[in-house]
Order: sequence, then structure tokens, then C-alpha cells
Amino acid sequence: MTSSADAVVVGGGVVGASLAFHLASRGMKRVVLCERRFLAAGASGKSGALVRMHYTNEPEARLALASLPYFHHWGDVVGHGSSGFLRTGMIRFVSPDNEANLRSNVEMLRRIGVATSVIGSSDVRALAPYWRADDATVAAYEPESGCADPVATTHAFVARARQLGAEVRLQTEVTEVRVAKGRVEGVTTTGGAIASPVVAVAGGAWGLPLLRSAGVQVALQPVRIQVSVFRRPPELAALHPVCIDGINEMWLRPEGPEWGSTLVGVSQRQEISDPDQAPEGVDAGYVRRARERLARRIPGIADAPMRGGWAGVITITTDGKPVLDRHPEVDGLWFATGDNGTSFKTAPAVGRALAEWITAGRPEIVDLRPFRAGRFAEGAPLVGAHEYGEREAEDTQPRGVSVG
Ligand SMILES: Cc1cc2nc3c(=O)[nH]c(=O)nc-3n(C[C@H](O)[C@H](O)[C@H](O)COP(=O)(O)OP(=O)(O)OC[C@H]3O[C@@H](n4cnc5c(N)ncnc54)[C@H](O)[C@@H]3O)c2cc1C
Repeated sequence: MTSSADAVVVGGGVVGASLAFHLASRGMKRVVLCERRFLAAGASGKSGALVRMHYTNEPEARLALASLPYFHHWGDVVGHGSSGFLRTGMIRFVSPDNEANLRSNVEMLRRIGVATSVIGSSDVRALAPYWRADDATVAAYEPESGCADPVATTHAFVARARQLGAEVRLQTEVTEVRVAKGRVEGVTTTGGAIASPVVAVAGGAWGLPLLRSAGVQVALQPVRIQVSVFRRPPELAALHPVCIDGINEMWLRPEGPEWGSTLVGVSQRQEISDPDQAPEGVDAGYVRRARERLARRIPGIADAPMRGGWAGVITITTDGKPVLDRHPEVDGLWFATGDNGTSFKTAPAVGRALAEWITAGRPEIVDLRPFRAGRFAEGAPLVGAHEYGEREAEDTQPRGVSVG
């Protein structure tokens, strides 16, 4: 094992994996990825892994769009393994009072190159014959979107990074980023010290103590979110699109053998302090709620058997957008945090942009300035011009978190 590196990546989730791959593929010789447990142990292993471009802010849509070729052409772009991408198309429902916002967002997305259009309820019925669609006046459709396998994606990035020379240390927690005279010197880990001029923290909710101890000041809140899986009856066996349903505050995707089940995540917000203490299983109350919500869109699923569920931990910011930046006062320290439950699909471009920044001095593939940590202190949060302001119906407290 080396005790020095050109770069240390903290975290073996999809973002750290993507970054390690991109650093190694850009010719960095000694990349060391440290993961305190195992690959995809955090949010990545629990992800719904929807791959869609429909965001209400252009910078994040650009990240998703720049990531799409990885999912469509994984073998050519990454060169090992698979992301398990399934192209289903994506339908985005919004409440009727958001029709003008939806049209504006589709216009913005088309301008930057996303294949998308506004469709009506008869189009929805053609795309998803057993879905209810009479509650929506319009929806957005993306024919090139779908869903992936988040665990396979993480492993494939890491395997390719290894082939390119990266070293992966599992069960190795980074306990300190060592800094001297305003420069990163390396890290202390449970397996010893590693000297390195570059450290990039992509630790998800588990990485927050490290970021705080390194002086990253952004408000970051870990939140536990749940999903459950329902097996559709035989008459609903046909593959359905992935969907973000702003009317029912949920997202869904096909799941399981022959895609005969539907995975659903309902908007929720359970703030926690220690992600290691958050139960990984699904709560009975959540399952009841998910079934009821899902049946509003797919009535035939009301009596379908529940086949499982799980919970994961994401990190939210006050504007709901990620933070992708370098430390303003510590040379050599980068971080990707505040995933807000929507950062699987953007991980390819995030890893590439950070690798470009680290190796070439600035991100090329996408402009990361909108994601700077300082935006909160500047009073300039990242807010889309036509956000939907969706709110969980029964929430009287702060907004639920819609992931996907
Ligand atoms: C239920 C659920 C559904 C989701 N659905 C979608 C979706 O449909 N589409 C989408 O785009 N996104 C979705 N997301 C969000 C997406 O999964 C996350 O944004 C993404 O996986 C974050 O990846 P990450 O690598 O930043 O963090 P994580 O996957 O959390 O990985 C961080 C890793 O760092 C390790 N680590 C932390 N601290 C240290 C340390 N000090 N030393 C060493 N290792 C450390 C952790 O053990 C962990 O493995 C969903 C998330 C959940 C939970």
C-alpha cells in the first residue's frame, strides 16, 4: 500500500467512484479511493437511479444532460462493466396550475439540447395505458430517459479506475484532512496516513463531520427517505416509463424480474443527526402511504403485494441543489455534497468536471460556478426561474423532499 498519493478520494459512492475513474482516465497516476465501509454503502446503494433531464434549473439540467451519454454508451465511454441502464422514457406530471412553468422549463431544456416535449393526457395513455392521467392537463416527456442500476454503476466506475491504476481501500475511514499553511497535506485514515496534495470529499451524509472539521460552512442536513416495491398484477405486466409525479408527490420506476414490479418513492422528510443510526428497512406506515399514492396513478396496483422496501440517507441544502466546489481557503481540497436525493444521474458529469478542475485548473464539461458553496452566504441560492413549488399535501411542516 502506498502512503502517498497524487489524489485521495473520500467515499466509494457513485460520485467518489466517478471522480476516481475520471482522475485515473485523465492520466493521474496515484489515485487512492478510501471508503469507510464498502462500495455503494451510502445513498448510492439505495438509489432509485432515475436518469432524467427534467430539472427546473439549467445548471443541474446541464449536469444531467452531460451525464446521459455515459448511460447510453457505457461500454464506449467508461470501458468496463455496465450501468444497467434501461431506456423507458420519462413522464413528468405537474399540477394544472403549473402548466405555464412546465412549458417554460421544457423550452429551457430544449434550448440546451434535451429531447423533450409537452404532451397531453391522451399521449400519456398511449405511453402508459394502465395509468390514470385525467388529473393532469399537460406533462413533459423525455424519450431518452430511464433508470439504471446504481450499485452496478458504482462498481463499474471503480473497476475501471482500478484497471487504470487507482487503488481502492475499503473499510478505511478518513478521520482527518491534514492541512498546513493553507494547503492540503494529506489525510489520516483508520489504516494510516496518506500524504497527498489533493483531497476530494464525496462522503454523502457520512462525510459531513469531515467537511465540518475542514471548515466547510454550508448548512447540510441528513434526511432519511424510504422506498417500497409493489408487484404489479399480470394485466399490468407491460413495461412502464419512469415518472416524476408532482401531483401525487412521488416518483416511480419499473423494478425487479422482467421489470414486473414498480418501485415508488413518496415525498418525505425525516431529518436525522447520525446516518449510522438510521434504520435501513422500510416503516409499515410508509408502505401504506406509498400504496395509496401509487394507486392514484396506477389504480390496478391498489391490491398488489408489497415485495420489499428500504431506506437511505441523503443530504439536503436550503436551496435543494448540490454543492460542488473547492475550499476557498485550503488549496487542494475539493468536495461534492448536498446531493438532495437527485445526484445519481449527474454523477458522471460531476466526477468529470471535478477531475478536470483538479487536473487542468477548471471544469470544462459543465460550469460548476452555480454550485459554489459561497452562494448561500452571498444570498444567491440556486433557484430555477420556473420552480413548481410542490408541497406534500399532508405536510404542515417544512416541505417534503422529492427525490428521483
Ligand atoms: C431512496 C433513494 C432514492 C434515490 N433516487 C434517486 C434517483 O432516482 N435519481 C437520482 O439521480 N438520485 C437519486 N437518489 C440520490 C442518489 O442516490 C445520491 O444523490 C447519490 O447516490 C449520492 O452519491 P454520493 O457518492 O455523493 O454519496 P453516497 O452514495 O452516500 O456515498 C458516500 C460514501 O462515502 C463513504 N464515506 C463517508 N465518509 C467517509 C469517510 N470519512 N471516510 C471514508 N468513506 C467515507 C460512505 O460510507 C459512503 O459509501 C436517491 C437516493 C435515495 C436514498
